[in-house]
Amino acid sequence: MKRETIYKRYEPSFTPKEKNSPSYWFVFNSDKLLINTENDFKIPFTENLNDFSLSPLREQYLGTLEGHPCYTAEVAPGTTAPDDMTFEDLRSIYEVLDEDIYLVAGRAIQVINWDKNHQFCGKCGAPTVTSEHEMSKICPECGFTSFTRLSPAVITAIVKDDKILLAKHSYGLKRYSLIAGFVEAGETLEEGVKREIAEEVGLKVKNIQYFGSQPWPFPHSLMVGFTAEYESGEINVDGNEITDAKWFDADEVPRMSSMISIASELIEWFVENYSD
Ligand SMILES: [Zn+2]
Repeated sequence: MKRETIYKRYEPSFTPKEKNSPSYWFVFNSDKLLINTENDFKIPFTENLNDFSLSPLREQYLGTLEGHPCYTAEVAPGTTAPDDMTFEDLRSIYEVLDEDIYLVAGRAIQVINWDKNHQFCGKCGAPTVTSEHEMSKICPECGFTSFTRLSPAVITAIVKDDKILLAKHSYGLKRYSLIAGFVEAGETLEEGVKREIAEEVGLKVKNIQYFGSQPWPFPHSLMVGFTAEYESGEINVDGNEITDAKWFDADEVPRMSSMISIASELIEWFVENYSD
């Protein structure tokens, strides 16, 4: 699934070229996105949000979508959606939005939250200014720079004798899923893969291969997918974070209903390559 860009019609940029032209607005209210039914993209299209009686607390330029400027904005919690529009949780509207729009919305929510959460220097407390040269906020007092926060996480399809390992977590989804976890400071991605697998199911793996990556804005991850071969060890779950783990062959592996995540692409890769 390697791909040079995930976007088809969107071009990222942080420096607006033209102002006061009709734009797509990715508007968030307590992390919920404003969607409507007025255009194909279901994203409000207007020169000025005041046209919809919305007063943004903050806004950031995002780039262009089919040549039109895109902005992300935040409105005050409790703001009522304009007529024929609603604020929706991002996870719940994957099926509703075009894939490109969904991806831009994922970028938008991270940019607007970065803007909100870095108004003041984390080191000395002075108000920050947004850089004109890169997506960063700089403290004019002490020079400390804050970039958009990204927390890389690794997710791995472990294969042994035509079977894939899936585990059941004690939290969140109750179905069996791939082993995943955040990369720790000082680790390579591959070291993160090995450590997470050892910690969660007690196995050693080899031949770790990059599969692809995916922005995962819940709230600010970058999911990096890998495939790996079982090397040694017996399944030994911690009983705390992971309650069960077992090997599934291609006929019995639980398929995911949507292709929203790289996890589903990894499972489809396994089914395609390891079916009888
Ligand atoms: Zn400072």
